[in-house]
Amino acid sequence: MLRQTLLAFSCLPLALTACSQGETPKVATQALDPVAVHENVLTLDSHIDLELEYIAEDMDPWTNKDGKISVQKMQDGGLDAAFMIVYTPQGEMNDAGVAKAREIAETRYKAIMRLTEKYADQLALARTAKEVRAIHQSGKKAILLGMENAFPLGNSIDDLAMWEKRGVRYLGITHMGHNQFADSSNPSYSRGETKALYGGLSPLGKELVVALNKAGIMVDVSHTSKDTMMQAVALSKVPVIASHSGVKALVDNPRNLDDEQLKALAAKGGVIQIVAYGGYLKNLTPEQQAFKMKVRKEMGLEDDMAFLSMDEETEALFDKKMEAAKALGPAANVGDLVDHIDYVVKLVGIDHVGIASDFDGGGKIEGWWDVSETPNVTKELVKRGYSQADIEKIWGGNLLRVLAAVQAHAHP
Ligand SMILES: [Zn+2]
Repeated sequence: MLRQTLLAFSCLPLALTACSQGETPKVATQALDPVAVHENVLTLDSHIDLELEYIAEDMDPWTNKDGKISVQKMQDGGLDAAFMIVYTPQGEMNDAGVAKAREIAETRYKAIMRLTEKYADQLALARTAKEVRAIHQSGKKAILLGMENAFPLGNSIDDLAMWEKRGVRYLGITHMGHNQFADSSNPSYSRGETKALYGGLSPLGKELVVALNKAGIMVDVSHTSKDTMMQAVALSKVPVIASHSGVKALVDNPRNLDDEQLKALAAKGGVIQIVAYGGYLKNLTPEQQAFKMKVRKEMGLEDDMAFLSMDEETEALFDKKMEAAKALGPAANVGDLVDHIDYVVKLVGIDHVGIASDFDGGGKIEGWWDVSETPNVTKELVKRGYSQADIEKIWGGNLLRVLAAVQAHAHP
């Protein structure tokens, strides 16, 4: 068994073509120990959320035992660094909607700050790639700030400087539904939106991309439409990221990136962080698909537009009914996650892919159910034949390279 593993290491996955073309695989002299690799590389998760119901001032969301992250789980899982997310759901595009979004963003930001202060003996806020490495060296865990949805900025980009000062190092332009800045991958049909509001970035959205470059904040295109994404990549002077997305060629979901997008992202030096969200990683089995159609019919949602426009209450009921589909096929697992990584590596190379759990924002897969199970991801990467240097890149090296480049451009 061990010998087979040794042989497999020498020609997978990048050299697969070379091997299949008849090149003699070299036998690796030493098998990689996944435990040692996990210990040796800096592991960075680019997208972890806080559940809104747990972030009142007197609460520590990380003491919720059902939560997927806590400082203890980071210790147990050997996760060295994490982007914690100031996330705002998309609301109505008016003053009241923006005011509410600002409040939510403030609440989440303050909750993240409280956690870094409460656990200051184990955590520290990182503002640069260099600081992430220094904090890691010191034995602490690095917390970085990301912002998901530019909606709370309102109708200007004035607040960007404040968020940069606070430590935000990437900004997701949209979430579910279009906003002032751009079209989303998932229009809010229930709010009457059509597929495209601007056909990509709005004029304000173009200003935002330029301003993000100047501020040294990474442009994040997860949740944006393809047009928004391609325009943002073309407009940005520095590499762009997709902080938590999957590969469309493997799972045809609007949240995933197609080959043209992946090539554009990579050509600019950017990176896609593959997300551990089952629906974006694994297709439904034919049985699950049939069950889904049955539920849609039962609920009067056979029509695609009716299905896409369902309100929150209907969606909650639909999701509840769909729970039963889980018994009809295996759930997405760590192998599926690494299939998406392999795909990106084969298409555009090892320098353009990373990992995001989306924990406490819906992310969870078999084998990586919470932060404490993080070593299983490394184990799978080792099993697929990646070297420690490759795994270092996948587990955060690539993203930190982009962060460093973006900041160097802004503050030469
Ligand atoms: Zn998201």
